[in-house]
Amino acid sequence: MTDCDLCNTNEYDVIYDGRIRDGVVGKETEMDHKVVKCQGCGLVRLLENPLSMEYYQSDEYRKAYNETAEVSDYIEMHDSEQMPRLNKIGVHAFRDKIALDYGCGGGAFLDLVSGVANKTIGIEPFSGYHESLTSRGHEVFSDSDSAVASYTGQVDTITSFGVLEHVENPSQYLKDAFSLLKKGGKMYLETDNLDDLLMKLEINDFDRFFYRTAHLWYFDAQTLSKIVEQAGFSGIEISFRHNFDISNAMMWLRDKKPTGNGKLNLFDSRVNAAWINFVETAGLGDLVCVEMTKS
Ligand SMILES: [Zn+2]
Repeated sequence: MTDCDLCNTNEYDVIYDGRIRDGVVGKETEMDHKVVKCQGCGLVRLLENPLSMEYYQSDEYRKAYNETAEVSDYIEMHDSEQMPRLNKIGVHAFRDKIALDYGCGGGAFLDLVSGVANKTIGIEPFSGYHESLTSRGHEVFSDSDSAVASYTGQVDTITSFGVLEHVENPSQYLKDAFSLLKKGGKMYLETDNLDDLLMKLEINDFDRFFYRTAHLWYFDAQTLSKIVEQAGFSGIEISFRHNFDISNAMMWLRDKKPTGNGKLNLFDSRVNAAWINFVETAGLGDLVCVEMTKS
């Protein structure tokens, strides 16, 4: 049983009890899992942690969630996710800077900024990617302790995409990031948004797809703000990103399945541009993002 990482309250409400995703889409747990909301601070978590840190360092995890442990496959699968991230943050955050991606995976984002950054550093527990990361010019650490030992107070910009929901101790993760940053340095973080539009539509099949064994924590704008503030950050700016067009929501309602984008040709870019703009400004995007400063 896991305790709330943000406050000392042990009381919680069960907000979901059932099968959850366990790997690629369609793979589910054989047992029911409880998702609970802390009565003290509102942070949502899996009540029992089904995975271990050793598992995250294994080929088995990469194969379960990505169907492969090859770095070339990782890059092919994740390259298209990187430009929207960079567009949102802006190149200026990396130009001539020491940039660190905390939980960098196969390094698809680091590759994108290495042309303008002074130095690119990755922290990645899966050692299967290390040799390739190093050969592409990135300095790599297996864990935060070794990175902190080398770079305390020296990093200009830290990025974190889809990592906070995985780590056993999000508060410690953020405190380590805070230690790595120099004074005035910034961190840009994205994590899955519990207030995702599709969660609001109360589609049970979406809930069991959204909650998954690899995600121990589920944040919204409020709990994300609280946990980063508690880690020492200031200048906290919350925003949202949405990666899915209107057809994806329609198909969820019709077929109760994830389809990705562009599956209904009824809609064109006029509707989708308005749709994305609305979903993001209303706080209903699939990602909640935070920009923050070590002041
Ligand atoms: Zn709490």
